[in-house]
Amino acid sequence: MRRATDWLQSRARLTPQKLALVEVETGLRLTYEQFDLRAKRLGAYLQQNGVRKGDRVSLLALNSAGHLELLFACAKIGAVFVPLNHRFSVPELSYVLNDCQPTVLVVFEPFADLAQELRSQVQVSVHIEQAVYQQIASAEVGGSVLHPVEVDEEDPWAIIYTGGTTGKSKGAILSHRAILWNSINSVLSWGLTEHEVTPVYMPMFHTGGLNALTTPVLHAGGTVVIARDLSPAAILEVLEREGCTIALLVPTVYHTLVTSPEFQGATFTTMHTFLSGGAPCPLSIYEAFWAKGLAFKEGYGLTEAGPNNFYIHPDRAKQKIGSVGVPMFHNEVRIVDDQGCDLPAGETGELWIQGPHVFSGYWNKPEIFAETLVDGWLRTGDLARRDADGCHYIVGRKKDMIITGGENVYPLEVEHILEHHPSISEVAVVGLPDTKWGEVVTAIVVLQTGQTLTGEILKEYCTGQLAGYKIPKRWEFVRELPKTSVGKIDKKAIVHLHTQHET
Ligand code: ATP
Repeated sequence: MRRATDWLQSRARLTPQKLALVEVETGLRLTYEQFDLRAKRLGAYLQQNGVRKGDRVSLLALNSAGHLELLFACAKIGAVFVPLNHRFSVPELSYVLNDCQPTVLVVFEPFADLAQELRSQVQVSVHIEQAVYQQIASAEVGGSVLHPVEVDEEDPWAIIYTGGTTGKSKGAILSHRAILWNSINSVLSWGLTEHEVTPVYMPMFHTGGLNALTTPVLHAGGTVVIARDLSPAAILEVLEREGCTIALLVPTVYHTLVTSPEFQGATFTTMHTFLSGGAPCPLSIYEAFWAKGLAFKEGYGLTEAGPNNFYIHPDRAKQKIGSVGVPMFHNEVRIVDDQGCDLPAGETGELWIQGPHVFSGYWNKPEIFAETLVDGWLRTGDLARRDADGCHYIVGRKKDMIITGGENVYPLEVEHILEHHPSISEVAVVGLPDTKWGEVVTAIVVLQTGQTLTGEILKEYCTGQLAGYKIPKRWEFVRELPKTSVGKIDKKAIVHLHTQHET
């Protein structure tokens, strides 16, 4: 057991005047010294209001500096930060709150009314509104002294409720050790320095917004720019104005960005890397960045591990299309068959991960944790393969695999082919129940504006590119695809919608 260090305090000692946080919407700009001071004041206030080591502190807010101030305030007092998904409905939020039972619930605008509704359904001792929060952080109220607490590296630091893409949302417990090592691994493997400036567009209640680049860049002493406006013009303006160097977005946001008229004329004078993560990224997005001479690469991650796990050099990303690269520092991976035996290069199996960045449990769900982390290996539920050079490719989710007439079909492979059709804007391939085939390969297609196509034409397009059994037998054309709260294509909802139509 090792004592956890307060790395915000270390940073504030090393680079006190360096710009740490920018909040685009409010114009707030904090140096590391100011950031640390605000986190200390918040920590002291929480202690004064009864928060003890191990207690949970929740925040319901749009992306804000508050997420990071509270994260580090919790670190200082051994409390556990639980950012809430503001896109959840009232029943979903009350499920999460009743599950993690926070001592304190901090609520920012525009969620005051929602919080009022939640009050009748959940028991929380202390409620803090945005105006009071700001007074505490800027020392207008509070003013008590923080009492040092011994925090161990294995103690929980945050609980992040997973996206719920595959089922009911689960609270993944991230220890100080896991968040620290995800940072160390990312700083070392991706070469992050104090010159990094990263915008945060991914939701900060999600591992993508909180831990993919945000905590690693803060660890390295760079600047985090918190932004909310996802319109292409606003993204492009923030990247240039704030001198951003590295950004992570999900493929759906990239899709809107690269197909916008603003992107065509955009220049990027400070950006060195665009990263995609959270879901498979279509090649057309890579190509749009490459055409501008920019580095573009894909990362693979999940709430339960890091989320950062792989590294690929931008030049290699061009040769190894679609690869996430090699495992990062301090991260071991295996690709195994259903019996847990290691598979050779070229074969597809489940990806298992081991390293100090792996989570330490699901809140209140030890039985699911016991099935997920076995003998120190995290069973990701994702399918992957490795080529002869050790580069890894994510093939899809094990649960998404379609079994049609006894043959295995990986939807991602079919989606990659279809995404290349010039008239297709977005596509999801799912398996729908079918009496003859067990599951029938079904493509749900969004066409580019003004285009028309038929299933027959697309079948012909696939012939020769895919084995016959992989070619969708059913085609549905829709205006848009449902997305999860972090912007991933929501296959669970698609299957639900299309099986409902059947009955
Ligand atoms: P839940 O665990 O509740 O079902 P979720 O799986 O969406 O939700 P997250 O932790 O948000 O939870 O996302 C992790 C998942 O995202 C991975 O397990 C993987 O399936 C998918 N993913 C992440 N990066 C990639 C990538 N580069 N390519 C393909 N899939 C990816």
